[in-house]
Amino acid sequence: MHLLTLVLGSSNQGKLRELRALLADLPVQVLSAREVLGEDPSIAETGSTFAENAILKARAVCRATRLISISDDSGLEVAALGGRPGVRSARFAHERATDAENNAELLKELENVDPAERSACFRCVLALASPYSDRIQTVEGSCSGSIARAPRGSGGFGYDPLFLVDDQSGRSMAELTEDEKNQISHRSIAVRRLKPVVVELVRQLLEGAGRALSSRPPTGA
Ligand code: IMP
Repeated sequence: MHLLTLVLGSSNQGKLRELRALLADLPVQVLSAREVLGEDPSIAETGSTFAENAILKARAVCRATRLISISDDSGLEVAALGGRPGVRSARFAHERATDAENNAELLKELENVDPAERSACFRCVLALASPYSDRIQTVEGSCSGSIARAPRGSGGFGYDPLFLVDDQSGRSMAELTEDEKNQISHRSIAVRRLKPVVVELVRQLLEGAGRALSSRPPTGA
């Protein structure tokens, strides 16, 4: 049963799929902004940090839909590139880059970098904005690994085929099952931290509904 709707301010199908799976144990449904508004909202990601961009997106979608919204701003930080692509992860190769173009650009930039120097980190900030509060809550998650010399695997999205997970298996994130990725990913860690906030919202909703019911005159009176 869905007691609460959360609108995701992103058109990234990979994020939407993972967030739905990660929140499946709560009585909430996650809709995309497109499903609610009929089109993707155009939001310029002008922030210089993941948190700034996450807040910007959650606020814009909450205003446009008047529903509780969550946003995910995430990306890859590569130590040898001084933390790039970072907030520009989706636009690393160029403004309208595909995942394949971004992966090719990353391999090119790391062409002469030794395996020991290829460490990287996925980061995710989730923001939750509610029409009933001015406060925007944020939580963060990260996952460390390193960058492979060639893409491997077909799961996940984005940089997953190039991201070798730190679990001694030598597998890329794209070689994990969806469940395996959802145990260790930056997004899953952030969702774990967001869950108490969502549970509290559901509790408040039920409490409000209970109060409304008990103040109604009995039927037939
Ligand atoms: P955003 O829409 O600005 O947050 O862009 C995030 C970008 O970071 C995506 O387009 C991906 O390239 C990358 N990214 C974020 N999360 C993941 C992930 O879980 N796997 C692979 N790439 C990711």
